[in-house]
Amino acid sequence: MRIGIPKEINDSRVALAPATITKLKDIGFEVIVEKGAGLTASFTDEEYAEVAQLAVRTDVLKADMIISINPLTDEELKTIAKDTFLISSFEPFSDDKVIEKLKGLGLRAFSLDMIPRSTIAQSMDVLSSMASIAGYKAVLEAAMRLPRYFPMMVTAAGNIKPAKVIVLGAGVAGLQAIATARRLGAQVEASDVRAAAKEEIMSLGAKFIEVQGAADDKGAGGYAVEQSAEFLQKQQEEVQRRAAKADVIITTAQVRGRKAPMLLPKTTVEQMRKGAVIVDLAASTGGNCELTQNGKVINHNGVIIVGDSALANTMPQDASSMFSTNIYNFLKYISKDGQVNMNMEDEIIGGSFITK
Ligand code: NAD
Repeated sequence: MRIGIPKEINDSRVALAPATITKLKDIGFEVIVEKGAGLTASFTDEEYAEVAQLAVRTDVLKADMIISINPLTDEELKTIAKDTFLISSFEPFSDDKVIEKLKGLGLRAFSLDMIPRSTIAQSMDVLSSMASIAGYKAVLEAAMRLPRYFPMMVTAAGNIKPAKVIVLGAGVAGLQAIATARRLGAQVEASDVRAAAKEEIMSLGAKFIEVQGAADDKGAGGYAVEQSAEFLQKQQEEVQRRAAKADVIITTAQVRGRKAPMLLPKTTVEQMRKGAVIVDLAASTGGNCELTQNGKVINHNGVIIVGDSALANTMPQDASSMFSTNIYNFLKYISKDGQVNMNMEDEIIGGSFITK
């Protein structure tokens, strides 16, 4: 089977790195790559030419299976031959029309965000790979904007206290943010609603912000469930008490298929120190901070608020390599001799094939 890799639009990453293509050939796939597809991720056409065919976009879109990080546009989807396999993140949880649209065009789509979060599927989980990069970059972004040091410093020009960082939401991105902030020497406090999070936060050397009464997440497949207004109010109060002393707040809290919970109201931001930085990774789903503007950096009374859910895009080489490895593991699992095994009884295949 031939896999087509188009150049991503408005994204520096590429779905397959050259090193992964070599491994895909060993399991029966051929790959055709759009010219220039890897350039913004630091992979040259010469590197691709050694392992794949290079072609113009229209030819790449004629492959038997098209893999892209972001879904193709509606206009392009209409040009794809019936029965072509598509692999991307279609996010049917937030776009309820996408499945009917793809089915209507006779396309066969696997949605990477629908792969169940089981132990066996961990190596295929693009959400985790990208979230981990975003958590790391969120801290670097904050450190670059903060008018202060992160670590404690003892110098001849005086002693500097370590920065205080709060992380709201300790899933994959949040835990990586905690680890990165700790490595830079900050004091970290963090909050999450999932029962498993407390121990994970503490094991990274951060303090847990305890709020009693979170709704039970058992059966939510590793995701959080929506919390009551009463709980969110209590949580906002706990956070507000600490925010006045914080230098940085990184927010990552998400509830799949819903608007992000609002954890930092305007009143909290207005109690923060001048020069403090908020990085809101939940910006694209409404933001955890009331003032966040998606895709923008704003200054509210001296507090900088960065609304960016696409930080993985700012580290495109490693992001592409990790995405590629996830894709290889997924294809290895769902295929035999380069052909897709359509066993819908299988949890991973049936769970991610959205055009049944
Ligand atoms: P996510 O991006 O959906 O959400 C981010 C975090 O926000 C979660 O930890 C969630 O509990 C938290 N959150 C939601 N509402 C909140 C609130 N009001 N206050 C504070 N925090 C709130 O989640 P994610 O990072 O993709 O994954 C969460 C967890 O799922 C992981 O930590 C892990 O345990 C599990 N997981 C398992 C696998 C696997 O086994 N294959 C893969 C990835 C993740």
